[in-house]
Amino acid sequence: MKLTVDVKHKTYDIILERGCLKTLDTYIDTTKRYFILTDTNIPQSLIDEVVAQCPNSTVYKVAPGEQSKSIQTFEDVCQACLDFHMSRKDTLIALGGGVIGDLGGFVAASYMRGIPFISIPTTTLSQIDSSIGGKTAINLGKVKNIIGSFYHPDLVLIDFDTLATLPKRHIQSGLVEALKAGLIHDKSIYEIFKQDDYEDHLDEIVYKALCMKKWVVEEDEKEVGLRKTLNFGHSIGHGIEAYYNLETYYHGECVGMGMLYFLDDDEVKKEVIKILEKMGLPTHADLDIDKVFDYITMDKKAHADTISIVKVREPGKSYIEEMSLSEVKAILERNPL
Ligand code: NAD
Ligand code: ZN
Repeated sequence: MKLTVDVKHKTYDIILERGCLKTLDTYIDTTKRYFILTDTNIPQSLIDEVVAQCPNSTVYKVAPGEQSKSIQTFEDVCQACLDFHMSRKDTLIALGGGVIGDLGGFVAASYMRGIPFISIPTTTLSQIDSSIGGKTAINLGKVKNIIGSFYHPDLVLIDFDTLATLPKRHIQSGLVEALKAGLIHDKSIYEIFKQDDYEDHLDEIVYKALCMKKWVVEEDEKEVGLRKTLNFGHSIGHGIEAYYNLETYYHGECVGMGMLYFLDDDEVKKEVIKILEKMGLPTHADLDIDKVFDYITMDKKAHADTISIVKVREPGKSYIEEMSLSEVKAILERNPL
């Protein structure tokens, strides 16, 4: 299956098929040079699969996890590109999860003011969400995604088979972005999550969530309006993530907890808690509200004394409210997880 994303200055394909990694060479020019960025947790068999189809390539591995979205790692990867004599004719391939996609995308956007970029996401989170939309970023200390740019890939290859080795906790954490997609814009995704056999519908969930994201990104590439709704659960989620040093909880787990604060309907909130519990995801975290709040205000979505908060009125229907910081803090205090 193929989806084509059409944004202002670029059109690119997303190939969505089990086993498509094996046919990478049908989508790329194999005579070109490729810099393959990945991390040390990515199974060697996946790396070998890509290398076998890109004879003129080098592989660069960074440490796994959020810590690699750092200025230091960014510098190391740029240096490795330079050492490989990368030019604008060469392509960076990001093979891995959202961390590799965000870091690799930002290197591709910055190195020589932009080089071609192919994304091969290997986690549920990156297949559902981060591999499309063109947001690339690294963190500054604990403040997430504060340095970055909009830079779209030239091709995205989503092979569900690559998920076979992904630990269950990461599978479930990534699915939160699809649950979010359902809550903000597509009730039919939400309905799948309500079923006990939702895990049998993984392909459908990923496809529907991607379609939703494609629509949103095409409507509002630079996040002036509609796209802000994708931040549902993220303002507080990022605060929780930072409070726990970007280590204890995964991104999706924090977003899941962050969403619970802004569900208008209490019945829906109960239902979402039930879904998260069924998925084995946390619905409670011990928080020092003052500290979490400090991170929230450092987050780029906080303007002066207000913050854009995404709320869900009912499954599939979201809206944005400009809230005063004191109101947000009161909600954090009133609504302990
Ligand atoms: P991740 O990239 O850290 O991957 C999770 C873990 O799984 C890592 O340890 C990784 O090495 C390992 N892994 C990846 N693929 C594997 C496989 N197939 N088999 C075995 N292990 C594998 O985390 P993630 O959840 O994919 O991404 C989280 C990041 O994505 C966060 O930094 C978040 O901010 C970012 N994000 C970006 C966007 C965007 O639009 N750019 C959207 C959502 C999230
Ligand atoms: Zn997210």
